[in-house]
Amino acid sequence: MREEGILSTDSLPSDDVVELSLRPRTLDEFVGQHGLKERLGILIEAARTRNESVDHLLFSGPPGLGKTSLASIVAHEMGANLRATSGPAIERPGDLAAVITNLDHGDVLFIDEVHRLPRQVEEVLYSAMEDFQLDIVVGKGPAARSIRLDVPQFTLVGATTRVGRVAPPLRDRFGYIARLDYYDDESLGLIVERAAKILGVVIDSVSGHVIAGRSRGTPRIANRLLRRVRDYASVRAEGTIDPEITDLALGVFEVDSEGLDKVDRFILRALIEKFEGGPVGLSTLAIAVGEEPETVEDAYEPFLLQMGLLKRTARGRVATARAYQHLGIAPPDPEATPVADQQSVLDLRE
Ligand code: ADP
Repeated sequence: MREEGILSTDSLPSDDVVELSLRPRTLDEFVGQHGLKERLGILIEAARTRNESVDHLLFSGPPGLGKTSLASIVAHEMGANLRATSGPAIERPGDLAAVITNLDHGDVLFIDEVHRLPRQVEEVLYSAMEDFQLDIVVGKGPAARSIRLDVPQFTLVGATTRVGRVAPPLRDRFGYIARLDYYDDESLGLIVERAAKILGVVIDSVSGHVIAGRSRGTPRIANRLLRRVRDYASVRAEGTIDPEITDLALGVFEVDSEGLDKVDRFILRALIEKFEGGPVGLSTLAIAVGEEPETVEDAYEPFLLQMGLLKRTARGRVATARAYQHLGIAPPDPEATPVADQQSVLDLRE
């Protein structure tokens, strides 16, 4: 559906190389999230002075907000290596043992989507996190026996888009849990400026702000939109980026004034036109727009909720008055609505 994925919060294959070059390497280069940065700085400094590894860290928040970047910053600031893997990639306890026994003292092990670790893997992880020991079973059947291995001291950095799905015993073993929030336009403006400098793109601050304002609070998107504006400018405007070119470029890529893309608008339109504004269940809505329920829930809804365009109620998803306004559709007339449905209309008008 989202063929170009321009506003996808996930990293696209085309992003990989560029993201690497744009990824902040030190805490100083990491823009915004001031409280989190300060606390993390204290943890790192304290660990450094004590000559220990940083306590295990869990970062939660929507994709593209900087969780992976923070993991590599922790490694860099500690002068340690970063080993990265993800929950779904570690299928068996043996996979985890292979990763952990290959770590060097002080390394940072980054596990993305940590909420997707299989339960038996999690159980092995507990003693590794707590005592730096691994209990693994070798052999099969009657010959199977459990052996205990010492593993080097390491820092586990977990990242999750769904902190509620991290099993409580695992969550409790992290020394510090931080939630990343969407970025304000000012921080995103700085992120665009920084990326432009690295990519050698000349951009004025107003254009930078236009991009920031349409980036859904997400640095990964801000960086991607900058690249698309650069492409547009090089093909249609001899490389010159100004606010007008920026606006035209974002229009061509179907990013609207609020940072919504085609699929976001499709979701809102379906909600309004097919389900009379809701409430409608997530899976029904997902089918109507041809997406997986999980994609709608993780990739689209957080931003629509944040923008006050959609509401989650006990009975399902509801379009807000702002959604009607944004799409230029007249909200339903409460007079014409059957009494039983009045409540959802009242919700719409809040
Ligand atoms: P996540 O792991 O949360 O999905 P990433 O750490 O991969 O997010 O961030 C995606 C990209 O966004 C990075 O490559 C980087 O270029 C940019 N980015 C994220 N956070 C920041 C930040 N605070 N300052 C500057 N750039 C950032």
